[in-house]
Amino acid sequence: MEKLSQITTGKAKSLFATSNPEHLIMEFRDDTSAFDGKKMEALDNKGKVNNQFNAFVMEFLASKGIETHFIELVSGNESLVRKLEMFPIECVVRNRATGSLCKRLGIEDGLILDPPLFEFFLKDDALGDPLINDHHIESFGWASQEQADSMRELSLKANNILVDFFKEANLILVDYKLEFGIFNGKMLLADEFTPDGCRLWDKDTLTKMDKDRFRQDLGNVIETYGEVAERLGMQIKLD
Ligand code: 5GP
Repeated sequence: MEKLSQITTGKAKSLFATSNPEHLIMEFRDDTSAFDGKKMEALDNKGKVNNQFNAFVMEFLASKGIETHFIELVSGNESLVRKLEMFPIECVVRNRATGSLCKRLGIEDGLILDPPLFEFFLKDDALGDPLINDHHIESFGWASQEQADSMRELSLKANNILVDFFKEANLILVDYKLEFGIFNGKMLLADEFTPDGCRLWDKDTLTKMDKDRFRQDLGNVIETYGEVAERLGMQIKLD
């Protein structure tokens, strides 16, 4: 497998074609962004930590029956993935109220959400990723109703698996964002699962151990991601 030209570049990752038209290389960069790209900084080793973190979580989810685009690690900060047709949709699952939910609805920060709350957002930085529902998705042709149902079901199935996975590491999975795409007619989990796209709080102290450390200038961003990885039993290689 040969790495060919760059296809797209996002705020934290770039995608490259490979000699296999069905596969891409996903490169995790050190670039870190928040507030739809308004705050940007490069954080040493973030690409490596997130690539290897993502590989671990994607493999864990696959072992529990959630199929993903991840194939294998290629290097410290690169993974081989299946090339999907992506939906322009972000799927968010919340176990506790925080972030945009509290701002939008005036809900108390930290409120336990039982059952967990599921929300769709349109992936559009210029519009600030607005909240949407099934009807927007169907009317504007972003996905079929069946595909929207499947994204919701898979997101909530992943939640059952991941809540316990993080609990073992004494962490509360507060919320997270997933993205999906289609490969050979099948819905697969895509993009990434890293502390960049979820919120994790220490179970005892409620210390924030995710990208809120960057968003809120709390410091030790990558050191904290490393601590989460260590608690989960990952062995991240930085050389
Ligand atoms: P909120 O809606 O509160 O901003 O975010 C809910 C959850 O989804 C958080 O864990 C947040 O990190 C994640 N999330 C939502 N939108 C994005 C996004 O555009 N990029 C990333 N990396 N995470 C997001």
